[in-house]
Order: sequence, then structure tokens, then C-alpha cells
Amino acid sequence: MQIIEIYRSIQGESSFAGMPCIFVRLAACNLRCVWCDSEYTFTGGKKMSSEEVEREVTSLAGGGLVEVTGGEPMLQERELVPLMQRLIARGYTLLLETSGERPLENVPAEVHKIVDVKCPGSGEGGSFRLSNLATLTLHDEVKFVLAGRADYEFARNFTREHQLEEKVGSVLFSPAFLKEPSSQRDARNCQLDPRQLAEWILEDGLNVRLGLQIHKFIWEPATKGV
Ligand code: SF4
Repeated sequence: MQIIEIYRSIQGESSFAGMPCIFVRLAACNLRCVWCDSEYTFTGGKKMSSEEVEREVTSLAGGGLVEVTGGEPMLQERELVPLMQRLIARGYTLLLETSGERPLENVPAEVHKIVDVKCPGSGEGGSFRLSNLATLTLHDEVKFVLAGRADYEFARNFTREHQLEEKVGSVLFSPAFLKEPSSQRDARNCQLDPRQLAEWILEDGLNVRLGLQIHKFIWEPATKGV
């Protein structure tokens, strides 16, 4: 498989935010979100067997949480699924961060899927594979990255239309970050002010989780490998 990096840090997103986590970042993506902060994954990387990836994960000390991310990791499904099965068998709690465009029916049931639904402001609106909704359980999370009010309304309506608040463990509404963030570790780098987003969520009575990519508040937002 083609791997960009494997490292240990603090989980910045999802209901696992704040937990120590080992990240396995796979190369390549078939989408081009306008606010993407992972363009360095689109090409390159290092070829590693799944045994080598497993060895490197187990060599990183401490913690039982592993996230597979990218890029879009499900582009390498053939090798990734057996790797995930082996890491589960070793007792790791496994998270899979995916764009929602690739089919997810072969992901092992034990994996916590964190599935994006791309909003119009991403430039990839409509890429979500609706048949993936049938694979989601209370074990999983759906994430909307929001660049403004139109994205918020799309996410709110999609959440209601598909009863996501009942279907999955967490529905995440997260402000998009600026493409060229300053070195400030604060909310001025968010395209959508989190306070405004909080007010909309409360006004509409949504049972969703406001996500803040906390790694971008711990380290400078442009820092890679954290
Ligand atoms: S799906 Fe993820 S990695 Fe791919 S372009 Fe969008 S934000 Fe970047």
C-alpha cells in the first residue's frame, strides 16, 4: 500500500477528540475539496506491505486508538481491509476517516467509520454515495465541514432528511479552516465563526456535535504530521 506517514498525536476530531491516537495516512484522493488541508497526500508516499504498516503501528508506544486516514484510504480497499482486520484482532480501536464517496460495505463492522458528506462549498457537493447510508450504525459518525450558511443549511436538511441524529453515534458539524491560515491558534482561521455555528445549531434545535479540529488550536494550523 502507498503510505504518506504513520505517527502518534492527539486526535483532533470526532467523538474521540483529545485522545492519543496513532494515525496511518494513506496516499491519493479522487476528490479535490477547495479547502483541503491534505493536498500533500495526493501524490508520492512510500510503498509498504500491510505487515510493515502493522509493525510500525505496534512499535509506536502507548494507546489503543488507531485512525486510518488520507487522502482517501478506501481507494486502497483491497489491502486496507485485511490490515484493519489484523489491527482489530490485535485489540486496537480503529477509526476510518473517509470522504463518503467510495463504497463502505466491506469495512469491518468493528471499525468506527467517520464519514464525510461533502457540502456545496467544498466544490465536491453531490459526491456522497447515498448507498453508504445503509452501512452506518450507532458505532459510526457523519461529518459535515461547513464554509458558510449555505453549507449549514445543506447539512441541517440532509441530517433531518436521513434521520442521522438517530442513525449514527455523532453527527459532526465542523467549520472549514482557511486555505492559507495564519500562525494564530485561534478561531480567526475558521471560514465559519464557531460562535455563529453554535447559535444556528441551538436555534434549530439540532442534536449534533460542533467539531473544532482541536489539533489546529494546539499546534499552528499549517503544521503537518500532528
Ligand atoms: S476528500 Fe479529504 S483528502 Fe480528498 S480532497 Fe477532500 S479534504 Fe482533501
